[in-house]
Amino acid sequence: MKAYDSLKVTPLLPEALQPLQTLAMNLRWSWRDEAHALFRGIDPALWSATGHNPVTMIKSLRAEKVRELEQDKDFLHRLQLELEDFESYCEQDRWFKKQTSGGEDAKTTVAYFSMEFGVHQSLPIYSGGLGVLAGDHMKSASDLGVPIIGVGLLYTYGYFTQTLSREGWQQEHYTEHYPEDLAVTPVLDEQGEHLHVSVLYPEQREVKVAVWKADIGRVPLLLLDTNIDANPDDFRVITDRLYGGDAEHRIKQELVLGVAGLRAVQRFCEITGRDEPDVIHMNEGHAGFAGIERMGQLIVAGETFETALAVVRASTLFTTHTPVPAGIDRFDMLLAQRYLQADEQGNSRLAPGVPVARALELGKEDDPTRFNMAHLGLRLAQYANGVAKLHGAVSRSMFKDLYPNFEESEVPITSITNGVHIRTWVRGPMKSITSAMSGNRDLTTANHWNAPDAIGSSELWRVRNELRKELVTRSRMLSLESWENRGAQEAELGWTKNILDENALTIGFARRVSTYKRLTLMLQNPERLRRILTNPERPVQFVIAGKAHPADMGGKQLLQELVRYADEAGVRDRIIFIPDYNISMAKFLVAGSDVWLNNPIRPQEASGTSGMKAVMNGCLTLSISDGWWDEFRDDEAGWTIPSAVHADASLRDKWESQALYDILENEVVPMFYDRDEQGVPQAWVEKIRYSMSVVAPQVAAERMVRDYVTELYLPAGRSSRYANNLEHAREFAQWQGKVKDAWGNVEITGIQNVTGEAQAGGHAQLEATVELGSLSPEDVKVEAVVGRTDEYGEFIKPRKVEMQPDVETGKFVMDIPVSVPGTLGYTVRVIPDHKLLRSPAELGLVRFPN
Ligand SMILES: *Cc1c(COP(=O)(O)O)cnc(C)c1O
Repeated sequence: MKAYDSLKVTPLLPEALQPLQTLAMNLRWSWRDEAHALFRGIDPALWSATGHNPVTMIKSLRAEKVRELEQDKDFLHRLQLELEDFESYCEQDRWFKKQTSGGEDAKTTVAYFSMEFGVHQSLPIYSGGLGVLAGDHMKSASDLGVPIIGVGLLYTYGYFTQTLSREGWQQEHYTEHYPEDLAVTPVLDEQGEHLHVSVLYPEQREVKVAVWKADIGRVPLLLLDTNIDANPDDFRVITDRLYGGDAEHRIKQELVLGVAGLRAVQRFCEITGRDEPDVIHMNEGHAGFAGIERMGQLIVAGETFETALAVVRASTLFTTHTPVPAGIDRFDMLLAQRYLQADEQGNSRLAPGVPVARALELGKEDDPTRFNMAHLGLRLAQYANGVAKLHGAVSRSMFKDLYPNFEESEVPITSITNGVHIRTWVRGPMKSITSAMSGNRDLTTANHWNAPDAIGSSELWRVRNELRKELVTRSRMLSLESWENRGAQEAELGWTKNILDENALTIGFARRVSTYKRLTLMLQNPERLRRILTNPERPVQFVIAGKAHPADMGGKQLLQELVRYADEAGVRDRIIFIPDYNISMAKFLVAGSDVWLNNPIRPQEASGTSGMKAVMNGCLTLSISDGWWDEFRDDEAGWTIPSAVHADASLRDKWESQALYDILENEVVPMFYDRDEQGVPQAWVEKIRYSMSVVAPQVAAERMVRDYVTELYLPAGRSSRYANNLEHAREFAQWQGKVKDAWGNVEITGIQNVTGEAQAGGHAQLEATVELGSLSPEDVKVEAVVGRTDEYGEFIKPRKVEMQPDVETGKFVMDIPVSVPGTLGYTVRVIPDHKLLRSPAELGLVRFPN
């Protein structure tokens, strides 16, 4: 029988239960265990069926359940406490206010653009580490009271969910998500209508973009959605999937993120009476078009291209996340040109005012057929950073051609090492003992993370056992489910009840399946691995998860190789692949594993964050020295797999895997199984304690966000406000033109060592005669460069000291302290100098003596 039609039945939440709705609509509940427990407690089965989504759970409550809750005094009391906690969380003064109190910096506000945000499983708009990082950034910004607005896309399908075929081949599934089932609300305009902004595509076609808002504690996250009635079908699908489709689909999405995103933030601020953000933070190059749009607005208002660029650069921060050139987002130049849409005058219809030819130049690279979004980001941003120290260095080398005539060390890309949000990632049992010991109930202040020292060994070990047990239980369930999906019959599956051993050394490995992360490094010597796994006295087990990008055939093959090995080598109860890696799974995986394995090809892992989550839970690190571990690696906190620098990739993999087996057999396994009379592995627990107290505070997102604020946001806010006084930007733009024109006549005609031979502990006086042509001494900096040199006369890490003009002689002079005896090389250079210039390398202008 077929239904004639359908009608909707919505639950009526009585007054007393309204706070449930309030709590459900702000994702802050997701990092507050008490709120989580409150929701779950209403109906654990329903909670699990809705995928831990309070919004849909509340909508599915039966009338009897609602009446029951309404009468439940204890429940209402807890609800009230949660509401009060939430309200006080939102109102309390926070770190940012204290940090900037009374000063000019207090005005700084930031718009943070990202293609993905991983806040919670119930808001499926992320795929992996980049998104989770953006989510943790929002959460910590909320905790710290940083005035920031997130901007992203609301995908209809999000990223895919993963299952395996019988043969172990990845299967992708897409589920439609409706905004009314998510913790998002429409942003309303002044008339109370759902706010729409628009962006123009070729052939004068206007795409309408609806603006939604998710609340992450105190931080609003604006989400853009083209799947609305006002759009024709081909526009409705623009925001369909994360990282799906071809290059044209991708550029369409990036135009929505950048152009519509900037317009959305501006309208949102107008409507809510906020100041427009003065800093634009582009999390990866995907949002580069935001800078083009902002330039267009300034040009339409009468400014020159140069002035507009100066304003945008002074207010933009670009964060790069990939040390691999192949990982960079690049479009065909013709595609970019088509979407920028030149009118008869050559000006963009997409971003009115911007000359298309010049916009294209901002994204140019070596290959003239490519428009490079990272180059665009760097050219639009005076502030740029990588995400770990090593990654900063690799980025400076990778992008040095954008800053000709300067040394790699002077490339203006700094680094802020990633971090993870403690409250989100520390699992319940560990959270209880650490917060009880530190007296820091909220665990929001990493500085007070001194708990592990105070926790007794047996207590710490008890919690570790509890977390491992949870991992084993959940893995069994998910494994059974996976085998059913793979078409196995229930009768064949009795063995899955006994997979994994809750007392065995458990190694976790879960991350996107990208080639460089080397999921299958452990399979280099399958026989040796089998022996490690099946050792009767000291067994080892692996729990593995990760999705391959749907278009990445190589990645899917690696995955299949791993699954087949587990099936065929008779170790399918010791090496478990759990499909559909996501945030919920990551939480119990990083917490329940004893060791977190990370074996990327150095230096291709920009930072990596799953290992940080592991550390916070007392899981120890076993890693190649790359990304974050290159910086924090410490033999007392974990184990480092030596990386082999070898041109032959297969030899490198062979050596590194051997080192991995050696460390496992000789160090990790013995230490784990070496127990005292109480069954506690004392040395192991000591290592956990060290790792948790020394490493964990440094990899907290709170530390990361503070660093962003003090090292980048506040300086960018200052230069942004300075340049937004357009007199300053115009003057700077004109000055740049003047300096470029005059640079040909700048010359260093003489350098004198006035001192002759200097004595250690004394000074050497240098004097330089500089011809500045039409420039004045204020336009330049004259620097003495001093240091040891190699056999070719090249400086090794030289010092640079600014020289002062001598009013009488017109020469530039400097007394340089010298302390170490030996031979010192010196030279002098002239570089441009201006208040709005952040790095000497920006203009590519420098003069050395002939
Ligand atoms: C943390 C996390 C990642 C990132 O892991 P890496 O170690 O940086 O590769 C990816 N996916 C999910 C679901 C995560 O929680």
